[in-house]
Amino acid sequence: MSERHIVIIGGGISGLSAAYYSLKIAEQRGIRLKVTLIERESWWGGKIRTVRDDGFTVEGGPDNFVTVKPWALELCHELGLTKRLLPTNPNARRVFILWRGKLHLLPHGFLTFSPDLKGLFETDLLSWRGKLRVALSVLLPKREWNEDASVGSFLRYYLGSEMTERVIAPLMAGVYGGSIEQLSARMTLPTLWQIAKLHRNLAWASLVRTLRRRLFGQTQVNQNLSFFVTLRSGLGELVETLLANLTEANLLLKRTVVTLMTNAEERKVSVTLDDGGKLIADAVILSTPAWAAAELLRPIDEFLAAELSSIPHTHAITVSLAFDQSQVRHPLNGSGFLVAPEDQQENLLLACTWTSSKYPPRAPQGKVLLRAFVNRLVPISDEELVAEIVKVLRPLLNISGEPQRSWVFRWESAMPQYTVGHAQKVAKVNERMRHWRRLFLAGNYLSGIGIPDCIRAGREAAEKALRFIG
Ligand SMILES: Cc1cc2nc3c(=O)[nH]c(=O)nc-3n(C[C@H](O)[C@H](O)[C@H](O)COP(=O)(O)OP(=O)(O)OC[C@H]3O[C@@H](n4cnc5c(N)ncnc54)[C@H](O)[C@@H]3O)c2cc1C
Repeated sequence: MSERHIVIIGGGISGLSAAYYSLKIAEQRGIRLKVTLIERESWWGGKIRTVRDDGFTVEGGPDNFVTVKPWALELCHELGLTKRLLPTNPNARRVFILWRGKLHLLPHGFLTFSPDLKGLFETDLLSWRGKLRVALSVLLPKREWNEDASVGSFLRYYLGSEMTERVIAPLMAGVYGGSIEQLSARMTLPTLWQIAKLHRNLAWASLVRTLRRRLFGQTQVNQNLSFFVTLRSGLGELVETLLANLTEANLLLKRTVVTLMTNAEERKVSVTLDDGGKLIADAVILSTPAWAAAELLRPIDEFLAAELSSIPHTHAITVSLAFDQSQVRHPLNGSGFLVAPEDQQENLLLACTWTSSKYPPRAPQGKVLLRAFVNRLVPISDEELVAEIVKVLRPLLNISGEPQRSWVFRWESAMPQYTVGHAQKVAKVNERMRHWRRLFLAGNYLSGIGIPDCIRAGREAAEKALRFIG
């Protein structure tokens, strides 16, 4: 068989995974394959950006990934990174909520939306009325849901307004950078959505599960496995290791794909670069953000472009701050805090990770590293932004003096919003893509925004492309 050529557009984790799995599958199946990976920025990894400075490991984008979804862990195992995985500090797994100007401890189980009764009754985040509403939700009748609903309306039914607005809203904003009134329950809470379809209500299902476990000793989720993990030298280590495994690929950095040319019958795809260079491919994987894929597809498929560009995105800024330990009098005995929507109006912050508590190797001995998360683009300089963030954090964490170092990363249109109806939109996109047999999509807007889902998307696109051309 003659050599086949796959071009992958976008060198974020979706594209890097697509390149890695393409070469791996080709080798397994004895297919002679050339892979070209093209990235327009001056670094590989897309949103994954790790800066190592003066003993600090600073993450500009994602700082960890969940272990409940297997694809990132599987890739790390394949790449020999298992021993490099860093779990969250077991002494710093508590999370706080900033509500009405004060930090409140999030009781056990709230992170996974399954509060235990002790935690529920002890918390000062909810009034007695709010607590009773959660506890009595076990009596709710079964409710039939249509195609989709917002996270807000879905969870308000089961947990009441207080729990939904003070606990769930900040948790969801911390992941998606968006509002529970717009996010789709079906896409962002697929397990709870399924449970609600099958059982009388969420609390009832949780009670039945607990009773079964007690009576029949059914296996419980491994509580020892950290819910989040990262890599010892930061997530950049995953990018660097992937690149080290892509020596056979043609890697083009600081090159932008400007046009794609194909039609349904053609046997090849023609890819034009910003320097006028042309590549001829048997298959192309678009692993860019949705809006960038829309621009490339617009000349050949207006419908597809319209669907992709209708996916809303929010912006993100991370501000990392380094202090001497003596400057921060708060014990930082947790992994950080999330901000309740009520308090988001008053300040810029959406969340703050106590990085050096959550992952101690991120800062040198005697230093504190904090990371603030903002979900709007603010037209002020980095210095002004740092000053604003310090102003908010100072009274909460009892900070004296100014930060010794700071790092600001601004990400425009970075977080796709899985709004109500997103599942139908993705179904339409997938259906339409069947028409373009040599084009494949991978990215964070399809079936999950997190790193494990992006790796799965890259891997699945590689499998489909190889199946087609092989
Ligand atoms: C601040 C922040 C914090 C986050 N925290 C977490 C977290 O802790 N855990 C987690 O799991 N997820 C987190 N996420 C989400 C996760 O990081 C992203 O969803 C994921 O990294 C996206 O990867 P990707 O490869 O799909 O897209 P990207 O990383 O956006 O990569 C796409 C690449 O395509 C390139 N490109 C676009 N157009 C072209 C073109 N025409 N030609 C060539 N190249 C092009 C872009 O330059 C870009 O590098 C976070 C995201 C942000 C922004």
